[in-house]
Amino acid sequence: PVSLRANLDLPSEVERAREYGADGIGLFRTECLVVGRTAMPTEEEQYDAYRRVAESFPDGAVYIRTFDLGGDKFPMFLHMPREENPFLGWRAVRVCLDEPDFFRTQLRAILRATAHGDVRIMVPMVNDVEEVKQVREYLEAEEDALRRDGIPYNKGYKLGIMVETPAAALDSAELARHADFFSVGTNDLVQYTLAVDRTNSRLAKLYNPFHPSVVRLLHQVSRVAKAAGIEVSVCGEMAANPLGAFLLLGLDISALSVSWPTLPEVKRVVRDIRIEDARKAARKALAAPTTPDVMRCLL
Ligand code: PEP
Ligand code: MG
Repeated sequence: PVSLRANLDLPSEVERAREYGADGIGLFRTECLVVGRTAMPTEEEQYDAYRRVAESFPDGAVYIRTFDLGGDKFPMFLHMPREENPFLGWRAVRVCLDEPDFFRTQLRAILRATAHGDVRIMVPMVNDVEEVKQVREYLEAEEDALRRDGIPYNKGYKLGIMVETPAAALDSAELARHADFFSVGTNDLVQYTLAVDRTNSRLAKLYNPFHPSVVRLLHQVSRVAKAAGIEVSVCGEMAANPLGAFLLLGLDISALSVSWPTLPEVKRVVRDIRIEDARKAARKALAAPTTPDVMRCLL
């Protein structure tokens, strides 16, 4: 069975995601709550947004990503410095760990939302076990506070990481000991593996998720997750590309999350393929020497 979930940029997209047959929300990009804002969103406002998404999928998992700021997303209230290389800079989990008040408010709001569905917490751009441990410590402190205040949450919630850097992919065996699931962010994984800025249109030709190095990293992450008994999904654009979905299924990655408009097409691919064909193609792709060779294996 394949889980086909939707990516959300805004909470209001949940209705469309349901209509288009998503099994859940594989990525809720929470940055919409902070980008373009002059003040930090309150815990209540965040809780309302997370709860709305959780309640829209009573039978499906909802992966809420903690704030992925920096790179190309800068809220006005955080006074983020101008950097020479923002995608290699103060971004995602690095910002959150350096801004504990801001981050812990979000964690508390998400924890409260776990009382309303199968809400999972997903941390972007993790590179290192220490980052996961630190997030877990903050979560435990917020859980204590919720218990003290008599506020409900689901103790069995899951904490996972996005695999978005070669470091995380190569070190996935160690990270799997601390994370309850992996979700591969191929948009960033491709950018960081190939050292190609995903926003630079001049380099668009070089930005290719079928590069042999990317295929090998995906294979490694999938194998490690399977051995560790944790779920691995892909929530980058690669999952919405028919050849990409075919390759991912062949690599035994059976949870995909895509933007809602692309759900019907990916659903068709998933229905039409035979898993033995996908596995055979993936095995060939893993041995292919160049990007065009990888793509030929999938046709
Ligand atoms: C990704 O990097 O693949 C991803 C899903 O996250 P974002 O596109 O928001 O960086
Ligand atoms: Mg990303």
